[in-house]
Amino acid sequence: MKLQETAVEAYLGLGSNLGDSIATLKSACLALAAVEGIQLLAVSAFYRSRPVGPQDQPDYVNAAIRIGTKLSAEALLDALHTIENQHGRVRTQHWGPRTLDLDILLYDDQQIQTQRLRIPHPEIPFRGFVLYPLQEIAPADLHIPGLDSLRNLLASCPQDGLEKIDS
Ligand code: AMP
Repeated sequence: MKLQETAVEAYLGLGSNLGDSIATLKSACLALAAVEGIQLLAVSAFYRSRPVGPQDQPDYVNAAIRIGTKLSAEALLDALHTIENQHGRVRTQHWGPRTLDLDILLYDDQQIQTQRLRIPHPEIPFRGFVLYPLQEIAPADLHIPGLDSLRNLLASCPQDGLEKIDS
């Protein structure tokens, strides 16, 4: 894997609603920290959230993390897919249940639109389970490139039954 000379900061979203979701997210954090070119900088609390889309599935556990990384955004996505697969991720239904979902929320201050990647992640402005964990680990004045400040996005995003979990 080719590493960039300098690390950039990136934010990742983690979610799970099958199996022991809390254990899965903890294991995913360890797996991320073990990747060459990724340094784990901060982990939010874990939150329980209601599923988006089909309602006949368990609640989700979500978290956000801040990393420093020398991986390109594409290489980071590959690393996330490897970790998802190691945790038994099977892609079936869109918005259906999953053992582990890892998303790149922000990569540096870049806006990326390719076939494989949309950064900032398009769900950021609408999802409490992304915004609330993110605010715990991001600077107070974080700006989401091309969108708005995190503060303004939070002000117009309902918590929708989001609950912080003691883990
Ligand atoms: P999902 O089923 O929600 O995990 O979506 C998986 C697909 O979304 C991946 O195969 C990626 O190519 C694509 N994708 C687009 N933008 C992103 C992003 N910012 N982070 C993660 N996956 C992304």
